[in-house]
Amino acid sequence: MKLKFYGAAHEVGRSCILVESGNTKVLLDCGVKLGEKEEYPLISDEELKNIDAIIITHAHLDHVGYVPHVFSTGWTGHVYSTKPTFELSNVLISDYIRISNPSNITKEGLARMQRGFKLMEYHKEFQIKDIKVRLIPAGHILGSALIEISAEGKKLIYTGDINLRKTRLLDSAHIEHLHGEILLTESTYGGDNDSFPPEREQLSKMLQSIKETIQKGGKIIIPSFAVGRAQEVLFILDDYIRSGLLPKVPIYVDGMINKAMRIHRHNVIYCRDELQKRILMSEDDPFKSKNFHIIDTKKSRSRAINEQEAGIIVTTSGMMTGGPVMKYVERLGGDPNNKLILVGYQAEGTPGRALAEGAKELEINGKKVEIKMAVELYHLSAHADRPQLQKLVSSIIGLKKVFVIHGEEGKSEQFARYLSSKYEAYVPKLEEEFIV
Ligand SMILES: [Zn+2]
Ligand SMILES: [Zn+2]
Repeated sequence: MKLKFYGAAHEVGRSCILVESGNTKVLLDCGVKLGEKEEYPLISDEELKNIDAIIITHAHLDHVGYVPHVFSTGWTGHVYSTKPTFELSNVLISDYIRISNPSNITKEGLARMQRGFKLMEYHKEFQIKDIKVRLIPAGHILGSALIEISAEGKKLIYTGDINLRKTRLLDSAHIEHLHGEILLTESTYGGDNDSFPPEREQLSKMLQSIKETIQKGGKIIIPSFAVGRAQEVLFILDDYIRSGLLPKVPIYVDGMINKAMRIHRHNVIYCRDELQKRILMSEDDPFKSKNFHIIDTKKSRSRAINEQEAGIIVTTSGMMTGGPVMKYVERLGGDPNNKLILVGYQAEGTPGRALAEGAKELEINGKKVEIKMAVELYHLSAHADRPQLQKLVSSIIGLKKVFVIHGEEGKSEQFARYLSSKYEAYVPKLEEEFIV
């Protein structure tokens, strides 16, 4: 097999890896890198013509955002993913197009993309020319999958993004009984010091902090990825209010999160059993909790902002690179009684990262906004931390070679160094090729 890394090498973003075996060429993921500037995988449109198929691990744009462009070049192959990945990708891609208006995407391309997806079940093997493929639950977001490739008598496993912890929504990644000589693993939190504190500890600190702000009559803004983190955070807050741990205040849900909620609800068979049972056995549907107030007009948004009483606002985007969250920060950020709570990964160069590192000012719509509200960061990550990544690697039977990708400078190297005593470990460079 030949591997070539067109993205996510020494970086987080634009995941796109070529796997070639015999006459078959497939891409594992095909994402964009969003940040100060937008970057695409380094595969040329000419090379795209020879790609037989694309397999997508999950709906985040750093894994699927380049697919509309591929179809816009006239490409007529198929994209393989789970059903929730297809549905969530549609939502995230249309939002991305609305906000960034990329010039490399055509209407015809988007229409072809709709017809080009083939939806696959977890665990069921399927064939793309010379290779066999299996999608395995990855625990990261709804529909997320690890990809297992069998070719030339060898097995390769690609994590996409992976979470080994159960969440309120999803089971943890299914890593039991995995066999493979080759592993391509993410390393978002692969650094030597990336060990998350126990979630219970984080949550109780967060709860305390939210309570204090509510008692002062302040507002809490929680920027969140539309898919995954947002639903998780909403479920946690709803639980706290129902159980009386938090005073009953409105939880305003603004932006794409609402659409993503509906997709979660009708794909509930991809969620944890406990959640399915809760919905089936009782009238209690946590997706439609009375504590959630949907914000879908400018008017309802200003009401949420101007309302005198305390409230919690959960809205996009997660790293504050745009979206409704900026409106709330612009209007509420100057009041020290309010609070901003970050719950997810904050990429380098994003406003979310700047605030997490202590910035006291943000530029929003060309205007400087002074930030007087407190900013706090809690690790409710949907990614594996370093101990989990170590567990993943040691659980794969027959493993020999590990390629460490999808990590910021330093993190991938640190993880590879740790692995090198037992495995052949590589941190590939962009466009580097390997025969495995
Ligand atoms: Zn992801
Ligand atoms: Zn990712």
